[in-house]
Amino acid sequence: MSMRSILLHPDPRLKAVAKPVTVLDDALRSLAEDMLETMYDAPGIGLAAPQVGVLSRLIVMDCVKDDREPPRPIVLVNPEIVWSSEETAPYEEGCLSIPDHFADVTRPREVEVIWTDLDGNAQRERFDGLWAVCVQHEIDHLNGKLFIDYLGPIKRGVITRKMEKLKRDLAREKPAPKGHEAARL
Ligand SMILES: [Zn+2]
Repeated sequence: MSMRSILLHPDPRLKAVAKPVTVLDDALRSLAEDMLETMYDAPGIGLAAPQVGVLSRLIVMDCVKDDREPPRPIVLVNPEIVWSSEETAPYEEGCLSIPDHFADVTRPREVEVIWTDLDGNAQRERFDGLWAVCVQHEIDHLNGKLFIDYLGPIKRGVITRKMEKLKRDLAREKPAPKGHEAARL
């Protein structure tokens, strides 16, 4: 396993629509392992492949927040929302690609998702609470959509300009941040 660098907004790869995964091979499995390690280290509760520069429809999540509960890492290949509740709920979201910025986003409270697991089995699950927020946020990443795209243009512009400045400062401070350190930013 190895750490991957997390791309920071703005980056054209975060705006791209990711391609469906067609082969479940060792390369995909090691990418999923790397993404989980990178996510836990950040720390975060979800990560989509485009955030590490791979434009494939693959996400990882673990929304267990309680230390007394066992972790539940899940890898979703080609995830698709097949049902959304009419009831919505706001949640203050953040993103590993937009560190230190948070905003309320209103989404369906519950969603049903189908995906393929790493063994090629079809999976289906209804998510609620934090899991529902996370899976919708991560699937958005596969479609080139960020949580700030739900905000008004003024708020989004402020965050984007601050991120542009952060990236300029980082580029000036040190040689291209890579691996472990970059993932923490
Ligand atoms: Zn995100």
